[in-house]
Amino acid sequence: MKIALIAHDRKKDDLIQFVTAYRDILDEHELFATGTTGQRIIDETGLAVFRYQSGPLGGDQQIGSRIATNDMDMVIFFRDPLTAQPHEPDVTALIRLCDVYQIPLATNMGTAEVLLKGLQEGFVDWRLLQERRS
Ligand code: PGA
Repeated sequence: MKIALIAHDRKKDDLIQFVTAYRDILDEHELFATGTTGQRIIDETGLAVFRYQSGPLGGDQQIGSRIATNDMDMVIFFRDPLTAQPHEPDVTALIRLCDVYQIPLATNMGTAEVLLKGLQEGFVDWRLLQERRS
């Protein structure tokens, strides 16, 4: 599975804590991230991560383009709901694309935990359902 990891600045410590806790699950998958988030994950957990541009410089849009080409399976995006972001339109666009393509999206640690545990147990069959429909 291809998993994108993104965190706004005030949520980066939370994401590092989360990635550290679920390192063993994440290590079995292909990881992608926006620039600064990715660098912190690499430095602080040692996991291999493909880094896109920093979010405000287009990284969210780059991840969105992977979703639009059916090339991303899950997004974990720890948003900061209390701080205005200069790239808010990009954030909204990324979330919208997750809904367009039915990509599992967690915007907080609680949901992210459920998604990863579901992934570990093999509970995520939505791709199969989509294939059956088409
Ligand atoms: P960053 O981008 O990982 O480069 O900080 C995240 C974001 O704000 O979208």
